[in-house]
Order: sequence, then C-alpha cells, then structure tokens
Amino acid sequence: MSTRLIYIFRISILGLATLIAVISALIVTARAIVSSPANLLTRDSIAGTSVVIKNVRVFDGKSSVLRDAHAIIVGSGIIEQIYWSSDGFPSAHKGKAIDGNGQVLMPGLIDFHAHLGFSDGRPPWAAKGPTLINVAGQREAFIYAGVTTVVEGSVNPMAAFEKRPKISPNVFAATRMLTALEGHPIPMIREFLPRPMSEWSADMMALQVSSIDAQTDEIRNLAREPGHHIKVIFDRSIPWGAPRLSPSALEAIIKLAHAEGKLVYVHIGSSEEALIAARAGADVLMHPPFVDKINDETLSALAEIGAPVVTTAQIWQWLSRGVNQSPPLTQLEKRLSTEKALEAREADWRTEIANYNSATFTPEYLARVESFEHNLEHNLKRLYAAGVPLIAGTDTGLPGLTPGASLLFELGMLQDYGIPANVILQMATSRPGALLSSSGPKLGIVQEGARADLILVDGNPLSNIRYLENVSLIMVSGEIFRRR
Ligand SMILES: [Zn+2]
Repeated sequence: MSTRLIYIFRISILGLATLIAVISALIVTARAIVSSPANLLTRDSIAGTSVVIKNVRVFDGKSSVLRDAHAIIVGSGIIEQIYWSSDGFPSAHKGKAIDGNGQVLMPGLIDFHAHLGFSDGRPPWAAKGPTLINVAGQREAFIYAGVTTVVEGSVNPMAAFEKRPKISPNVFAATRMLTALEGHPIPMIREFLPRPMSEWSADMMALQVSSIDAQTDEIRNLAREPGHHIKVIFDRSIPWGAPRLSPSALEAIIKLAHAEGKLVYVHIGSSEEALIAARAGADVLMHPPFVDKINDETLSALAEIGAPVVTTAQIWQWLSRGVNQSPPLTQLEKRLSTEKALEAREADWRTEIANYNSATFTPEYLARVESFEHNLEHNLKRLYAAGVPLIAGTDTGLPGLTPGASLLFELGMLQDYGIPANVILQMATSRPGALLSSSGPKLGIVQEGARADLILVDGNPLSNIRYLENVSLIMVSGEIFRRR
C-alpha cells in the first residue's frame, strides 16, 4: 500500500471514529435531558413488607361522605384489608406503619387526557424549533400532584431517548393515532418542527388515512399494536377547515378496532362531530365540543348514548389566562412548571402574540379561540346537567398546561362551574378507574383487592376540591412517595 493510501485510510478511520463519538455524545446528552430526575419526591423504603396506614378518614372514590378507618393494609401493590372503625381494631400487624393523623385517604387521581414528552408547556411563540423534553420530570410532577394514573393520548415522541423510568404514574398509552390525510395534528407538527423531523414525527405519531378500502390491513395492524386504545381525530377546526375523516370512515375504523378488541377514543371539535362519533360507537370522547354551542336535540341524543366525555376545560382557556395573567398561577403550577415554561408564562403575551407569525394559528384563528373557550365552558355545564358521564382530563402537553398541577386546576374550574365536589372527585377517580380496569385489579377506588394507588390529603376535598393541593403522601402501586 502506498503511503498516500495509508494516509487516506487513517484519515477516514479517524473521521469515522470522530463521527461515532459525536453521535454517541449527542445521544448520551439527549438521554440525560429526557431522563434526568426532577428530585421532586422522596421514596419510603418499604423493602417488600406490607404497609399499615392507620387512623384515616376515607373517600372511597364513590361515596359523598367520608368513612373512618382504623387501618388499611397494603401489600404487593394491592389494598389487602380495610378495618373500618365499625369493625373494631385489627390485631397487631407487621410491616411499615404510617400514621394518617386523621387525614383523608382516597384513590390517587387520574388524568384521562395527557401527552408525555410532547412539550414542556410553553406557548407556541416561545417554543419554536425542536426541544428535548424532560419526560422523567413530567412523570414525577404528576405523582407530586397526586396523579397516579395518566391516559396518554399519543405516542411519546421522546420514547427513543427515555431510559426505563424509575418513577412513573401508571400510563395507559394510545397506539399511533388515526387521522385524515393532512388532518390534525399533522399541520401543527409541521409548524413546530423543521423538515425532515416533522415528517418523521408525523409518521411516528399518526397513520394518515386517505382510503379505508386501500388501508384496511394497515388499520387492522395498527389496532394490533400494543397500546391500550386507539385515538382517532375527527375534527375540522385545527387549523380551521383542516381535512377530516368522513363519518363512514370513522365508523369503519371503530368497527375494525373493536373487532380487534381495541378501545377507540375520539378527539372531536364540533357538537355534530361529537354526535357522529358517539353514534359510531366511540368509547370515549376526548373533549366536549368547542366549535359551536350544543343544541337541545344533540344534547339529549348524547345523553341517551351515554359515551363518556373528557372535560379538558383548559384547552383554550390557557390563551386568555396567559394574556390576562388571570387567574394567576397556583403555587402548584409554579412548583411543577419547568423554568422555561414559567418564564414564558410570565412574559407579556400581548406583545408576544402581536409579533407571532404562524401559518396555523393566524390572528384570525387566535380570534376564534375566545369563542372556543366560551363554547366549551357552556357545553361542559350543559353536558353535566343533561347527565352525560364526565371524566376529568386536561390535555397536558398543550401550551400553558403543567403535568399534575393542571389536573388540580381543572378540578377547581369544575367546582367553579357548580359541579359538586363529590361528583368531581368521582370524575377523577372511580369513573375513569372503571373504564381503565376492565381486566386486572380495580382502579380509582378504595376497596379490598383494588390497586394501591392512594393519596393522603390534609383537609376534606368533599368540602372544597382545592384541598387536593395539600397532598402529604402518594402511593403508586404500593410504593410510597412524599413531596420534597
Ligand atoms: Zn390531546
């Protein structure tokens, strides 16, 4: 070999090694950002023994009154035994004892609509370009707020970088979503990410359907993916006039998914879309309608079908809340926001919006948001009054929302809308729990044999839902966490 060739060979080996080193360093950094602990919590060491929680008042997830209990025994992630005060004192129990000090023990909260790793909650003008999201921190934030279960409405875009989480609420994750060709959320993804990342993300998150006949096998295969449910988008309003599946395509998708034993949760925008989805057999509607005000006929039809609706009261309110800085951020929102999100929340939104140049969220579109907000509040109150089953959920991952803290804010909003606290508590515990625990131990309820997802609250949330901010202990599948 000539010296020249050896030289080139050495250079290219060196070049390759450098390239590999750079890529590895990038991956290591990305993994560190996505997976680094937020140090919000401490964990009690229970070393495989059972736990005895003594002297508590219990909200069981359903009842409108508290019931005194001497002790609740937890082992292997399950509530093994409950000694109500009427049962007399239990005999001595081995295991770690926790004194409940007369606080309220209740099921951990369930956020039925969230997106892990989607964003850190910054509004769109503050979050241009790709960002790595600290997903481990989001998981901790949910638990800190007392949220022990999350329904994840999309594939976590940071999943490839996230190490096996050490601390996490239970997550019921969707498969890839189904939407029309170029339907929501594809334009949004294009707006926030440059090519080719936008195209990769779009494919990772959604299957775009242009023809049911040509894509039947693809849809059936998606229904066989490991996720807990399929999320289908049926909405023409994001951006305004966006392509949407036809009603017959939606019906065909729901039939195909149900034939594979998969639940279908549908994102809707208008009241007509809500009714079409409910009639087509949607298992859950992921939002109340917001595009228009629901009429009496549609309302009674929805009540008769009885498909549960997720509250998501903040999905448009975050904008006016940011502009007016009212209501102000709660202590919990401040505590659980990322620094960047907090900075963006406290900026002058009027100037930011005036300078914001967006293809999707044009000034005309932003002007509609106020009516979306009012319609949603109006419809939510009417759905409640008509007896449609409501489930608490936030759509955390959207701008202005904070993991965990936003669920408590949501429950406070529902209380301000006039919904009684006992019903709100059911909406965040036993009602979603029943939907999620069709197999395995029960969820969202304090009962022998149910999953030991519990929170201890200082103050009675049946008298004021905002007492839920004072969580002193959180148990996820029998593991004990406390706020740092
Ligand atoms: Zn969503």
